[in-house]
Order: sequence, then C-alpha cells, then structure tokens
Amino acid sequence: DASRLLHLRLVSFGDQQSLLLAHDVTELKRVEAVRKDFIADVSHELRTPLTVVVGYLEMLSEEKLPEDIHQALISSRRQAERMQSIVADLLMLSRLEMEEDQAGEIEIVPVPDLLANLVEDARQLSGAAGHSLTLHVDESLGIRGNERQLSSAFGNLIFNAVRHTPAGTPIDIFWGREGEGARLVVADRGPGIAPEHLQRLTERFYRVDKSRSRERGGTGLGLSIVRHVLRRHDARIEITSVAGEGSRFNCLFPGQRLVKLSS
Ligand code: ADP
Repeated sequence: DASRLLHLRLVSFGDQQSLLLAHDVTELKRVEAVRKDFIADVSHELRTPLTVVVGYLEMLSEEKLPEDIHQALISSRRQAERMQSIVADLLMLSRLEMEEDQAGEIEIVPVPDLLANLVEDARQLSGAAGHSLTLHVDESLGIRGNERQLSSAFGNLIFNAVRHTPAGTPIDIFWGREGEGARLVVADRGPGIAPEHLQRLTERFYRVDKSRSRERGGTGLGLSIVRHVLRRHDARIEITSVAGEGSRFNCLFPGQRLVKLSS
C-alpha cells in the first residue's frame, strides 16, 4: 500500500545476521498533522478577540476611575498582553513546524543590520537596568534565509540574555566566520543554567524556574522557536553554561548559507 508511511530500521547482530524492523507511522503522522493544524487554527482564531480585549482595557485604563478599579484594569491588560505574546509565539511555532518540509527562502538577510536593530531594542527593554550590550560583527557577512524568522530567533536569544540576568550584566554578541561556516554567539555573564536543564531548554514551555520566568514576561516558547528557525536554515544551536558564570548560546550556520554583503 503506497499510502502507508514506514520507518525502517536495520539492526545487525555480529557479521552474518540482520533484522529489518518496519514501523508503520502513518497514523502517528496523521495525528501529528491534525495537532499542528489545530494549534495553528486556535492561535489564529484567538488573535482577533484578544486584540479587542486589549484595546478596550487600554482605553478603560486611561479613564479616571477609583484606584482599585484602575489597578485591576492595569493588571488585566498586562495579562491579556501576555496572552497575546503566547498566541503570537504559538502561531509562529506551528507555522514553522508545518513548513518544515518546504524549501527554504532565498532572501539575502543582512545579519549585521538585523543585529544592530535587535541590540537597540534590547537596550530599550533593559531600560534602567542598564545591561551593557556589545556587538562584535563581521559587516560583510549575510545569510540566505528568511529575515522575519531569523530576526525572531536572534531576538529571542538577545532578549533572553537581558531578561534572565541581573541589572548591569555584560552581554556580548559575536557574528563572524568560523571554518567554512559562521557562528552567532550571545554570551552573558548572568547566573547561568544548571547542566541538568541544558538538554531540555529548547522544548516547548520548558523553563528552569516557571514562576520566575513568567514574571520576567517570557512565554517559554522562545528557545523552541530558535531551534526550529535554525533547523530551517540548516543551522543548529549549542548551549553552554556554567552556573554562576554565565551562558553562551551558539548558532552554527553552514558555508552554503553564507553570502558576502556589499557595503
Ligand atoms: P522564556 O520565555 O521563559 O524566556 P525560553 O524558551 O526563551 O522561554 O527560555 C527557556 C528558559 O531558559 C527560560 O525560562 C530560562 O529559565 C532559561 N534561559 C534562557 N536564556 C537564559 C539566559 N540567558 N540565562 C539564564 N537562563 C536562561
């Protein structure tokens, strides 16, 4: 039956004997596709009502009202905005998952400009906390890929470095050639991440400290988005961290994705 999808595995015992295992994954794939469609549809449908709710809460929180009501409105608005970020991240993630098998885009992404803009946004986000962000980039190096996706991935790494480290922490961002390929590094000297968490960090909704991370305004989907975006660009993520010393998020791009930018 040509419509069935099989996963084949060849297991060898010694020199002479092998066993061919066939696992029918047709139903599994179908259920997975339904799940992805469902998440994409739900997040898409939630966007409009949320925009309306946030809009009204915004309007009402500007009215002159008794203080306790005013505070309740402010808090409701903050939560509704949080929900908006989660819905936007879920939608992005499910689109990335659904488009996984399609060919990559062929835009030329000017990584140095993109990083400069993101660092500017990160400085705004840091505000009075005053993280010191330093950018070290090879100005001639770009990537063939999707600008919106790469901006979201790199942005997540840079904003994480700001959100998950104390005020004033130095954050260094490098972008340059490495061997045949290129490497983007976001390195902070914050609290670091204990080794037992590193493996699972890019899973959906995985956080080292759920309530703390929530307080800092994250959705728990950031690193999962990073992993998917990188995979679509034939790249991968490596995370190294020493508790008490800081974390390094490395994105490794292969040579065939690189382009020389004219200045
Ligand atoms: P979140 O929205 O919570 O930031 P992410 O998927 O982006 O979700 O990150 C997952 C978790 O990884 C975070 O909740 C945090 O515990 C940890 N983390 C990410 N970046 C850093 C960092 N630079 N320093 C310390 N912990 C980090």
